[in-house]
Parts: sequence; structure tokens; C-alpha cells
Amino acid sequence: MPIRVEGLSYIYNAGQPMEKLALNNVSLAIEDGEFIGLIGHTGSGKSTLVQHLNGLLKPTKGRIYLDGVDIHSKEITLRSVRQQVGMVFQYPEYQLFGETVFEDVAFGPKNMGVPEHQLAERVEWALNLVGLDIGLKDRSPFELSGGQKRKVAIAGVIAMQPRILILDEPTAGLDPKGRDEVLSLVSRLHQEEKTTIILVSHSMEDIARLATRLVVMANGEIVLEGTPEAVFQHADYLERIGLGVPQMKKLLQALQEQGFDVHPDHYTIEAAEGEIVKILETK
Ligand code: ADP
Repeated sequence: MPIRVEGLSYIYNAGQPMEKLALNNVSLAIEDGEFIGLIGHTGSGKSTLVQHLNGLLKPTKGRIYLDGVDIHSKEITLRSVRQQVGMVFQYPEYQLFGETVFEDVAFGPKNMGVPEHQLAERVEWALNLVGLDIGLKDRSPFELSGGQKRKVAIAGVIAMQPRILILDEPTAGLDPKGRDEVLSLVSRLHQEEKTTIILVSHSMEDIARLATRLVVMANGEIVLEGTPEAVFQHADYLERIGLGVPQMKKLLQALQEQGFDVHPDHYTIEAAEGEIVKILETK
């Protein structure tokens, strides 16, 4: 069990007038190879939770274990934790600083101790994985498009080859094409590199297709957990906590209510298409 969160509570500004209980007794276990979709309305505690997983925030109460070791114990350094648990923050391109793309992507691995003669190969590997032309490596990241900058920033984290990768709203602010590209690179990382993924999103559309398990948060607590199919059974509840179900699921549900013989558990566009073709063929 690579990550285990036990009874985690976190209070911002403890003891001050602005005190805020952001996480309330959260427990969660994540297995190798999972693709977790962490969803919840803004302010539900998603960012606070993931910042605990690589030791950026320290629990007010509770523990975080990586391979059974408490990450705040003397048995492990936070440096080693951060090497294994990579984090792509919201709008990560704001943290680009290098004069060249190469410099930015090489920064993490270099700090981690990857020898100089292996850096070029590592950078190429990461750029390739995020779908950026290797020819961009000598360009200034600031000359690139928004989507490309985001990919450079993601490549910088991937270049450290974390076993577990957390991405906090990685598609925020991108156009549909950029969004698809980022999601497909995350999917590739999961399938080809077997990286365990934790994708934070408030958009069901984005993660329904990709996640093997959804973890739903509201008010600092985990309120639902399971496969996308199981979680989408609770459509009314999800609406109440400010989360929709995917559009395709709504469409199929509406068709079913009209008496059509469709299976409303299909929520990807591809599966929904199959159901709709079925209706048309029986007409
Ligand atoms: P999410 O990622 O789901 O939007 P957050 O983890 O950012 O939620 O926030 C959870 C709660 O903690 C919210 O009520 C938010 O206002 C509060 N919060 C987040 N960051 C801070 C901070 N630095 N100081 C005080 N309160 C914060």
C-alpha cells in the first residue's frame, strides 16, 4: 500500500480568529497503479489533502504513510518523499523560471542527483512523454503557448520519475485541445509508465473517463468513494454538493426516463454513442 492516510485533520490559522478546519478526520488508502480522481466543489479540501501527501503540509492530527513509513518520522526524509510523490500544482507554468525549456525540465532531476551526462536523455524522455517537440528545448519557455508552457512544467515533474504523481487541476484555464492533450499525457503516464495518478478536479467530465476510482470530498471530508459507475449512482447527492454527473450520463438517463432501452451507466462519449446507435437501429 504505497499511500495511507489515517485520521487526517488540518486546521489553517489554528488558534486565530480566521481558524478553519479544512480536513476533518480523513482516511484513505491508495494502491500501486491506481488512477484516483479526487473531486469536490471548490473549498472542499482537495488541495489541502494532496499537499499532505508529499509533506508540504503537516497534519494537525493524523498520519500519512508511504510504504508503511510515517512520512514525518525520522526513518525517511521529506526530500525522498518528494522524489517519490511528484506534485504538479495549479497553474504550474507560473513557476517556470529557466532561460530555456531544457533548464526548467532538468532542474528537478539535477537537484535529485541525476548525473550531468544523463540529464539530456532524461529531459528528452520527459518532453517526449508530454508530447513536446524536442527541438523546443533551447527555446525560452516564455515564448511558448499557454498549453506548451503547462506541458513544460509537467515535464519538469515527470523528469524526476515519481512513482506517484499528483496533479491539482492540471487542465484549468486550457482550451479544449490543450485539455485533451494534458489528459491524454496523464493517461499515457498511467498506462505506459505505470505511474500511480491522483488527479484533482472539480470536473466530472475530465475524470470520469480516466479514473479507476473516484474519491469525492465535501466540507473537508471524504463523502463518497468507488468506481465511477458506483459513484454516479448517487447523481442526486452529487448535484446537492455542487457536482454534476457527466453530460452523457444525464442524456442516457433522460432517454431511459422516456422509455428507451438504454443503459444509463455508460458515461463516456464512446459508450453513450453505442447506446444511442442501438436505439436508432431498433427504430
Ligand atoms: P479545494 O482544493 O477543494 O478547493 P482547499 O483545500 O483549497 O479546497 O480549501 C479547503 C478550505 O480551507 C477552504 O475553506 C479554504 O478557504 C481553506 N483554505 C485553503 N487554504 C487556506 C489558507 N492558506 N489559509 C486559510 N484557509 C485556507
